[in-house]
Amino acid sequence: MRLRVKKGFAGFISQDVEFINKQNSLLMRFISLFYPAFMTNLWTTIGNKIYYPNTERSPLAIKNYAIIKHELIHVKQFKKYGVPLYLFLYLLCPLPFLFSYFRWKFEREAYLHANIQTEEDIDKVVNLLNKYYLYPWPKKWMRAWFIEQFHRRENGGNS
Ligand SMILES: [Zn+2]
Repeated sequence: MRLRVKKGFAGFISQDVEFINKQNSLLMRFISLFYPAFMTNLWTTIGNKIYYPNTERSPLAIKNYAIIKHELIHVKQFKKYGVPLYLFLYLLCPLPFLFSYFRWKFEREAYLHANIQTEEDIDKVVNLLNKYYLYPWPKKWMRAWFIEQFHRRENGGNS
């Protein structure tokens, strides 16, 4: 199923996007051959297309709003860099894993703004990044970055 959603929908969709069930995408099905959780657990954004897991019946359900906010940050990042450069940076730069600086940079922005409400969320997010994103950055460094940003935000200070 493909669902085109206009900017402004539900008060928080910040740009025109398309929601596509991963099952209906050849590319997503191909990737999931090597990584099954990719099809059943993970959302993926490329450009303004947001691919949702095939286990998801209604992608726009309220329970998914935090995830959608996260993906919308990726849509903005894609706009800023352009799809080919973004994919190159995200997947390969400077290494595919362990020191994937750009994957860490793009994901930390999305997680910080869409998924971290309390300090307890930080460990959850760091574990997710470690488990599903091919260890993009040393765990200790990731946690330290989130804690610093979280407190900066809590204190209302500007960077
Ligand atoms: Zn993400």
